[in-house]
Amino acid sequence: MDQTPSRRRFLTSSLLGLGALGALTKVTAASSPKPGFLTEAERDIPVVADSDVIVCGSGPAGVTAAICAARAGAKVRLFEAHGSLGGVWTSSLLGYLLDFDKPGFNQELVRRLRDRDAVVGTGVNGISYHPEDMKLVLEELCLAAGVTVHFHTRVVAVHKVGRRVDAIVTESKSGREAWRAATFVDATGDGDVGALAGCEFEIGMADACPCQPVSMDALLVVKDASKLTRFIHGSGSAVSKQSMNDAKKHLLAEIKRGGFDPSYQGPTIFPIRDNLLLAMMNHEYGINATDATAVTKATLNARAELHRIVKALRALGGDWEGLQIVATPEQIGIRDGRRIKGRYKVVKADLVAGARHEDSVVRATFSVDVHALTRNDPAYSNQGVKVKPYDIPLRALIAKDVDGLMMAGRCISGDFIAHASYRVTGNAVAMGEAAGVTSALAAASQRAPHEVSWQEASALLPKVRQG
Ligand SMILES: Cc1cc2nc3c(=O)[nH]c(=O)nc-3n(C[C@H](O)[C@H](O)[C@H](O)COP(=O)(O)OP(=O)(O)OC[C@H]3O[C@@H](n4cnc5c(N)ncnc54)[C@H](O)[C@@H]3O)c2cc1C
Repeated sequence: MDQTPSRRRFLTSSLLGLGALGALTKVTAASSPKPGFLTEAERDIPVVADSDVIVCGSGPAGVTAAICAARAGAKVRLFEAHGSLGGVWTSSLLGYLLDFDKPGFNQELVRRLRDRDAVVGTGVNGISYHPEDMKLVLEELCLAAGVTVHFHTRVVAVHKVGRRVDAIVTESKSGREAWRAATFVDATGDGDVGALAGCEFEIGMADACPCQPVSMDALLVVKDASKLTRFIHGSGSAVSKQSMNDAKKHLLAEIKRGGFDPSYQGPTIFPIRDNLLLAMMNHEYGINATDATAVTKATLNARAELHRIVKALRALGGDWEGLQIVATPEQIGIRDGRRIKGRYKVVKADLVAGARHEDSVVRATFSVDVHALTRNDPAYSNQGVKVKPYDIPLRALIAKDVDGLMMAGRCISGDFIAHASYRVTGNAVAMGEAAGVTSALAAASQRAPHEVSWQEASALLPKVRQG
């Protein structure tokens, strides 16, 4: 039950927090600090409310998990560091849905976006959408499902009782607060909750990078987008892979004609609506997503580069007349974060073999897409791996080192190559749906997620699917 402030309980404990580069540090109340360290004073944190399911992060995976858990009957809270739902879809202005040809919430979302004329383009395997409509659709769906949303609220610590995750601690303008739930879902993309809970994790290719580059997108407007079709990816119904690659090549040549050599050698423009376009034209290399200083530097570089590119194209005049930036995102797009150790790890061999699992929550079909790790690498590559459609099992969504914690989206358990395929948003949504029904059932039956079979949990899917 929700607690009113006057009846709040308090949580006092040594909580686990994150130190430099995501390494785990213990926040202690020791009285004599080590040189170079400050010691945090021990304090009581109000336990604001109990829930059935707490979802951390509202990207494609988290927002889906929250909506589906609520539709399955759970009392759900959704915590988001930014001020909109959708994660990379909205806060990072992604603009394009991949591996989305799947049943359930994927289909429902496309239908709801289509209903408001907010999807365009029928790329080989993708659909463009308007990020502002996406924000609104997701907010309406969360409200309708009864999800309690907390914006501008970051998860900063985890409290455990034995192996079980008991509460998360958040920081916001309301201060430091604790929230209990029966089941938790880490959908922070970067696996913050799993790491805070003390789970093992990997980042990038080896233990801690090299990582895929981070990229800043931008919303653009131009006088007449119909004159730019040879530079635009995935517009029109007769689009082929060849024409999409040609569009990238033409755009790269055009940017160079304007006197600029972009950091990403496969620059892409997607159609959004009328003369509104979405551009992906930047790579920032060698960034560890858990290093805030490095991410800040990348953000400053990226935004400056986008302005330079747009200025160079506009200076060409002609069809580029009137080109300008409408918006750059509040969050630079992160491809690679922590991958939390689960009860199964999806690996390259699964992709090559087209693995099948009894507890499959989604069949992923997207190719391995490793963007250049350095400026000298090809813009992107499949690293020589040919993907056969493969299953992601529920076990890859359940933390191994603690109980009561699921993962959904790009922070599930997998290796670098597998992640480079399953990370796209159609799979994140399907994982969110699975985490939603499984966490709701676990909470309702007072079990941990690993004690719930996919056969049982998937029986809830018809209840949460709304066409
Ligand atoms: C530049 C770029 C281009 C891409 N292109 C495509 C594409 O064309 N099509 C496609 O389908 N996929 C694409 N992807 C991949 C895809 O966007 C991501 O893999 C996908 O968004 C993963 O979803 P997620 O929900 O796991 O994570 P995210 O979308 O990253 O969402 C995580 C959410 O958690 C929040 N959060 C993080 N930490 C905390 C915390 N401690 N407390 C509270 N909230 C927190 C974040 O603010 C965010 O809202 C691209 C990714 C990038 C970066």
